[in-house]
Amino acid sequence: MSSPADRAPLCEHPDFQAVVIVNRIEDTGRFVADVHVRCAKCGVRFKWLGLAAGLHPAEPRVSVDGFELRAPIEPDAHLTSLMAGPDTSFPSFTIVQRGPDHAE
Ligand SMILES: [Zn+2]
Repeated sequence: MSSPADRAPLCEHPDFQAVVIVNRIEDTGRFVADVHVRCAKCGVRFKWLGLAAGLHPAEPRVSVDGFELRAPIEPDAHLTSLMAGPDTSFPSFTIVQRGPDHAE
Protein backbone atom coordinates (compact mmCIF):
# COMPACT_ATOMS: atom_id res chain seq x y z
CA MET A 1 0.00 0.00 0.00
CA SER A 2 1.42 3.37 -1.02
CA SER A 3 1.48 6.48 1.12
CA PRO A 4 -0.21 9.77 0.09
CA ALA A 5 3.22 11.25 -0.71
CA ASP A 6 3.93 8.30 -3.06
CA ARG A 7 0.65 8.90 -4.93
CA ALA A 8 1.04 12.72 -5.06
CA PRO A 9 3.01 12.92 -8.35
CA LEU A 10 0.10 11.13 -10.10
CA CYS A 11 -2.53 13.47 -8.69
CA GLU A 12 -3.38 16.98 -9.90
CA HIS A 13 -4.80 17.81 -6.45
CA PRO A 14 -8.26 18.90 -7.66
CA ASP A 15 -9.91 19.27 -4.25
CA PHE A 16 -8.77 20.07 -0.75
CA GLN A 17 -9.60 19.40 2.85
CA ALA A 18 -8.65 21.88 5.55
CA VAL A 19 -8.73 21.34 9.26
CA VAL A 20 -8.70 24.40 11.49
CA ILE A 21 -8.28 24.09 15.23
CA VAL A 22 -8.66 27.25 17.26
CA ASN A 23 -6.86 27.30 20.57
CA ARG A 24 -7.27 29.72 23.43
CA ILE A 25 -3.90 30.49 24.95
CA GLU A 26 -4.38 30.40 28.70
CA ASP A 27 -3.71 33.52 30.75
CA THR A 28 -3.01 35.67 27.67
CA GLY A 29 -6.43 36.46 26.18
CA ARG A 30 -4.97 35.38 22.84
CA PHE A 31 -6.17 32.87 20.24
CA VAL A 32 -4.29 30.88 17.61
CA ALA A 33 -5.78 29.03 14.62
CA ASP A 34 -3.78 25.94 13.64
CA VAL A 35 -4.50 25.11 9.99
CA HIS A 36 -3.70 21.90 8.08
CA VAL A 37 -4.44 21.39 4.36
CA ARG A 38 -4.37 18.17 2.37
CA CYS A 39 -5.52 16.97 -1.06
CA ALA A 40 -8.98 15.40 -0.79
CA LYS A 41 -8.19 12.97 -3.59
CA CYS A 42 -4.75 11.55 -2.74
CA GLY A 43 -4.34 12.73 0.84
CA VAL A 44 -0.96 14.40 0.43
CA ARG A 45 -0.34 17.18 2.94
CA PHE A 46 0.50 20.72 1.84
CA LYS A 47 3.31 22.78 3.36
CA TRP A 48 2.97 26.47 4.14
CA LEU A 49 5.54 28.60 2.31
CA GLY A 50 7.25 31.89 3.11
CA LEU A 51 6.79 31.86 6.88
CA ALA A 52 9.30 31.29 9.64
CA ALA A 53 8.91 28.31 11.94
CA GLY A 54 7.96 28.99 15.53
CA LEU A 55 5.17 30.62 17.53
CA HIS A 56 4.38 34.32 17.86
CA PRO A 57 1.38 36.10 19.44
CA ALA A 58 0.89 38.62 16.62
CA GLU A 59 2.50 37.10 13.50
CA PRO A 60 1.84 33.84 11.63
CA ARG A 61 4.39 31.06 11.96
CA VAL A 62 4.57 27.44 10.86
CA SER A 63 5.54 24.20 12.56
CA VAL A 64 9.10 22.97 12.05
CA ASP A 65 7.94 20.52 9.35
CA GLY A 66 5.95 23.30 7.62
CA PHE A 67 2.61 21.44 7.57
CA GLU A 68 0.87 23.47 10.30
CA LEU A 69 0.07 27.17 9.98
CA ARG A 70 -0.09 28.85 13.40
CA ALA A 71 -2.07 32.03 12.77
CA PRO A 72 -2.84 34.44 15.62
CA ILE A 73 -6.47 35.55 15.51
CA GLU A 74 -8.71 37.78 17.57
CA PRO A 75 -12.41 38.58 17.79
CA ASP A 76 -13.59 41.56 15.76
CA ALA A 77 -14.05 43.61 18.93
CA HIS A 78 -10.33 43.42 19.72
CA LEU A 79 -9.01 46.19 17.53
CA THR A 80 -6.30 47.32 19.89
CA SER A 81 -3.59 44.73 19.31
CA LEU A 82 -2.43 46.03 15.93
CA MET A 83 -2.25 49.56 17.26
CA ALA A 84 -0.53 48.57 20.47
CA GLY A 85 2.53 47.05 18.78
CA PRO A 86 4.18 43.76 19.60
CA ASP A 87 3.00 42.10 22.78
CA THR A 88 6.10 41.11 24.68
CA SER A 89 4.13 39.56 27.56
CA PHE A 90 3.55 36.37 25.58
CA PRO A 91 6.57 34.14 24.95
CA SER A 92 7.38 33.51 21.32
CA PHE A 93 10.12 31.88 19.31
CA THR A 94 11.32 31.79 15.73
CA ILE A 95 13.50 29.05 14.30
CA VAL A 96 16.22 30.37 12.02
CA GLN A 97 17.83 28.00 9.56
CA ARG A 98 21.43 28.86 8.78
CA GLY A 99 23.62 27.53 6.04
CA PRO A 100 27.27 26.46 6.36
CA ASP A 101 28.41 30.11 5.84
CA HIS A 102 26.83 31.01 9.16
CA ALA A 103 28.18 28.10 11.23
CA GLU A 104 29.54 29.18 14.59
ZN1 LIG B 1 -3.80 14.95 -4.73
